[in-house]
Amino acid sequence: MNNMKIDQSVYKRLQKVVGENNISNDPVINQVYSYNWCNELVNLRNDREASMFVDAPIAVCMPNTTIQVQEILKILNEVGLKFKAQSTGLGPWNCVASDDVVLLDLRRMNKIRKIDEKNLYAVVESYVTGAQLQAELIKLNLNCHMPGAGPQVSPLASSTSMGGPGFTSNFTGHSERNVLGTEWVLPDGTLLRVGSLGLKDQPDWFSGDGPGFSLRGIMRGALGAQSGIGVFTAVSIKLYPYPVEPKWKVKGISPDYEFELPNYIEYHFLSYKDWDSLENAIYRFSEEEIGYHAYYTSNLALGALLANDKKSLLNQITIAARLKKPLLVLLCAKTEREYEYKKKVFESLVEETGGRDLTSKGKLKPTTQMYAEALRSAL
Ligand SMILES: Cc1cc2nc3c(=O)[nH]c(=O)nc-3n(C[C@H](O)[C@H](O)[C@H](O)COP(=O)(O)OP(=O)(O)OC[C@H]3O[C@@H](n4cnc5c(N)ncnc54)[C@H](O)[C@@H]3O)c2cc1C
Repeated sequence: MNNMKIDQSVYKRLQKVVGENNISNDPVINQVYSYNWCNELVNLRNDREASMFVDAPIAVCMPNTTIQVQEILKILNEVGLKFKAQSTGLGPWNCVASDDVVLLDLRRMNKIRKIDEKNLYAVVESYVTGAQLQAELIKLNLNCHMPGAGPQVSPLASSTSMGGPGFTSNFTGHSERNVLGTEWVLPDGTLLRVGSLGLKDQPDWFSGDGPGFSLRGIMRGALGAQSGIGVFTAVSIKLYPYPVEPKWKVKGISPDYEFELPNYIEYHFLSYKDWDSLENAIYRFSEEEIGYHAYYTSNLALGALLANDKKSLLNQITIAARLKKPLLVLLCAKTEREYEYKKKVFESLVEETGGRDLTSKGKLKPTTQMYAEALRSAL
């Protein structure tokens, strides 16, 4: 529980910026933001009881424009209070770490500002989820990188402020490599436009570098600053061609969906005898650039991917246990020629790297749902 209270005059100034319905210092509301998944671990590390609650913010506000975010940060900087931003807010890294923090819940910043089909980028605000963006992109025969956490998280948060690997990383890279022009409100409220967005003439979102040296390394480095260096209000991210025909015909009732597979898609589960041969195989599959997926996962996780309920989970885990060190490779193509080429390279790589393909032998069969999910985020 937080004993510190926000000064009424500061609260009134913030209220004027966002409107009275978009700010609260009610202890009940504040307390909601002190609860999160895995906070028990944070508390244990700090020699406290394993509770799911940590410190609460002293107020929560919900801006909906970049100008409002700037105004809020200016006020907090002037009076010496801290800020904490959150997008979708799952995980202990969204909670405050001291008792003098105002939390910015960015759920009202929920617009896809632009999809540039020709130049392959999309501009999104904080509370646009990967699933929302992907639903629009599929209509245009496009796809985006999706962090492994799943399509429910924010591409903006992942690109600017946190992790970045995902199941399609072999093809779509890591979030740090997908971030282009960015709108960044610095802790004193100044607006910094990163990359081509900062150009004097014809500013636009297409590049994350220049004018001058690139700020992307400072902005996020490998893992991001988790709201420690300002608030990002919009970001442009790279887009990719959707790797197969994007019309998935579906039937069935949740969770037992069946999909009619598009042409030219093939999932393979390979087994390698030890870590060294697996490592070599991952390098080789990546070098030849044929896999939309080419990643290691545990037998247990593979069993879970193949199952829909507890009963089938046990069966699938027993079968997946046959793989020693599993490598999952997904081949996708738009044309028959591309497909035949990838299959040929795949077969020769399996032989070269000493892999055992349990899918071709019919011992493990990917479900059609697994195929469909593979192009979302494999979750
Ligand atoms: C179960 C689980 C599995 C995960 N697996 C993966 C994975 O495989 N790969 C991976 O890359 N990540 C993974 N993550 C982390 C997750 O990707 C990130 O939390 C996510 O990418 C960020 O999106 P979000 O909507 O969750 O952001 P949030 O959780 O809302 O924010 C993430 C961080 O960024 C800060 N932040 C958010 N928005 C802004 C903003 N506008 N300006 C400044 N700072 C901001 C927040 O303070 C927070 O510290 C996992 C998380 C969970 C809970």
